Amino acid sequence: MNDFDYVKARDVNDAVSQITKHLAARFIAGGTNLIDLMKENVERPTRLIDITGLPLKEIEETQAGGLRIGALVPNSDLAYDERITTHYPLLSSAILAGASAQLRNMASTGGNLLQRTRCLYFYDITTPCNKREPGSGCGALDGFNRLNAILGWSKSCIAVHPSDMSVALAALEATVHVVGPRGGRAIPFADFHRLPGDTPEIDTNLAHDEIITAIELPAEGFSRNYSYLKIRDRLSYAFALVSVAAALRIEAGAIKDARVALGGVAHKPWRVPEAEQTLEGRQPSRTAFGEAADVILQDAMGFAHNSFKIELARRAIVRALEQAAAGTPQSQSSKKIV
Ligand code: SF4
Repeated sequence: MNDFDYVKARDVNDAVSQITKHLAARFIAGGTNLIDLMKENVERPTRLIDITGLPLKEIEETQAGGLRIGALVPNSDLAYDERITTHYPLLSSAILAGASAQLRNMASTGGNLLQRTRCLYFYDITTPCNKREPGSGCGALDGFNRLNAILGWSKSCIAVHPSDMSVALAALEATVHVVGPRGGRAIPFADFHRLPGDTPEIDTNLAHDEIITAIELPAEGFSRNYSYLKIRDRLSYAFALVSVAAALRIEAGAIKDARVALGGVAHKPWRVPEAEQTLEGRQPSRTAFGEAADVILQDAMGFAHNSFKIELARRAIVRALEQAAAGTPQSQSSKKIV
């Protein structure tokens, strides 16, 4: 691990001012990913700006009937907040499917969005990786790529985004509020994370000199018909091979609104609005869900070790939508797939 300076930000403006002056600085809150990356010499910041003292720890109701979640709200607090469990249980379920209780206690809401891929080669600094060292190549392309992407990848990078929370936030159409030296702006969740293209070293559309201050949820929480289904190699403390956040609004037996977001398959939570539209106006059925899954996966392409994810994703989408339609969401405590 390299030497680095450590400073505390006094307020949001001070945090922005400090990161603006130091190109190689990083914000630190829970540190559950950044410290690992520093220990492995993947990230080598010259300065850590501690933001844990900033007043970004509240969950507040918005005038639009939604919730504004401070960027420093711990993942555990968010998952167990009564307003979340009652109105946005999809989000609670997704958070509780991730990491471990100890990590969820430390990890912040904003940091969860900014965690970096767990691609094996990204963490192994003896191997080529365009994300870690642009232009060096991609060790996963011809290496062991079981955990890598089947959608939205490029020849530069086939990594996936590891967050479960982000998959639910994509389905819920959250908004990310950020502040930088040019003032504040709101980023629709679909535009927050990027596809790798030719610049896989850039994970998100958050500028280096900006800080996440809050995540805003709209009023619609799909609290009746939802499910977060996560398929992984072991029953806890593992990243998704495929995960599905499914949410339906059903009126008089017909689907009025449908949301399906996938995790573990792409460089960002994956949504295909055209697939969701195929469900609107139809009665819930395995046939309808299968047709939507086919649209979502029509461009899927795997590699030597992960092509199985395509069929796995198709079945997971259908199952998660069936669970959502039946009002029997996936249990994150028993971890059984029902
Ligand atoms: Fe690096 Fe991306 Fe290739 Fe993994 S998939 S080795 S993160 S460039």
